[in-house]
Amino acid sequence: MKDESVVLIVDDVASNVEVLANILKDEYQIKIAQSGEKAIELALRAPLPDIILLDIEMPSMDGFEVLKALRGNSVTKDIPVIFVTSHDATAQEEKGLQEGAVDYITKPIRPIIVKARIKTHLIIKEQRDELVYAASHDQLTGLYNRHHLNEEGGRKFSRALRYQDRLSVIMLDIDHFKKINDTYGHLVGDNVLREVSVLFNTHKRNEDFASRFGGEEFVILLDNCALEDAVYKAEIIRKSIESLMPENILVTASFGVAELSYAHSNFEELLKDADTALYEAKESGRNKVVAFYE
Ligand SMILES: [Mg+2]
Repeated sequence: MKDESVVLIVDDVASNVEVLANILKDEYQIKIAQSGEKAIELALRAPLPDIILLDIEMPSMDGFEVLKALRGNSVTKDIPVIFVTSHDATAQEEKGLQEGAVDYITKPIRPIIVKARIKTHLIIKEQRDELVYAASHDQLTGLYNRHHLNEEGGRKFSRALRYQDRLSVIMLDIDHFKKINDTYGHLVGDNVLREVSVLFNTHKRNEDFASRFGGEEFVILLDNCALEDAVYKAEIIRKSIESLMPENILVTASFGVAELSYAHSNFEELLKDADTALYEAKESGRNKVVAFYE
């Protein structure tokens, strides 16, 4: 579990908040809200809560409404919520669980039970987060994987078309990578891939998306970026790879760059143009950037 998980305690009665906060304050970072509205506000503000203890009976906005609002927001929809209530009513418990609460605690509060339930749900959340991470990331480099590239690429493609934004793609391939593996072994080859990957994050803007396409091939998506700017960016990356010398080996890469146009009916077609340009870069001598023109 990360060093200090954040627990958001929501209850309209100050003494109830205090009881829970006192039980939890030594192990967790505590945030407090005394109304449903405040709870939603705090759930969206950093540090984001890892878990929420939510009172059901509150004036103006009750726990069920808060839960619904949290589930409807992409930032808060996966935060586990434990309902806290003075009613030991099965019907309420059922309703709470049906609407997406992960658990249910009744008042009066029993410290050991509260602590145990919170710990359990934080562990579950962490395991789920790890699964989500593993499904979208490449294990070796920590970049996004091809599966996630296809998903995110499709989303970016549709968005760019809808808003008439620009979208460019850089596809690159490390030159003669097989020779590196054959000469120095796969462990060294893996380190080369890792070290080169770090460069993509160094050179990327927040909105850029870097992924390992497979083997020694990588794809970078650039939002709001015209072809010539993407070529410029690719050239910077090409030079930094050339001077990187990972594992003391001179490594170079070839680049294909393409920009979204009305000729493309889906993300795969845009990717294919970048691949065509990459092929040309390889064929015409490697360690260079080639742009795809219609
Ligand atoms: Mg209350």
